[in-house]
Amino acid sequence: MQVRKNIALVAHDNRKEDMMEYVGWNAEILARHNLICTGTTGRLVKETLENTLKRPLDEKITLLKSGPLGGDQQLGAAIAEGRVDLVFFLWDPMSPHPHDVDVKALLRIAIVYNVPIACNRATADFMITSPLMEKEYAPSIKDYSAYIQREV
Ligand code: PGA
Repeated sequence: MQVRKNIALVAHDNRKEDMMEYVGWNAEILARHNLICTGTTGRLVKETLENTLKRPLDEKITLLKSGPLGGDQQLGAAIAEGRVDLVFFLWDPMSPHPHDVDVKALLRIAIVYNVPIACNRATADFMITSPLMEKEYAPSIKDYSAYIQREV
């Protein structure tokens, strides 16, 4: 991954306030990277960043569909295609969601491709302050060739 990273931001409704506080606090850092977000989170992230930084950020933010309408799956596909370097996913541990299976799939695919994924504020704080944020970094990905070439 390059110095300028592709960062995914997703927050469940009960975690959106937390996410926006985080985004406002880290606005300068986040604005140096490309952002990809599920629909509602992305709209709020854009507003928060633009209000904080007082400049438009249209080209830096890709908005996917809303999570329950397929946004989590779109993000999972982007991870599988190598288009996402880091994920900040503040999911709600206290509420059931209609798209629970999509959430689980997103968490799983991030692990498959060894993409760093922060699911709570403390991890998000550690991740964004890592010296690796400002460097190139190549996450090692397990060799799946034996699986791909398996006899069936
Ligand atoms: P949202 O989706 O950003 O559209 O609210 C998030 C989610 O529930 O996965």
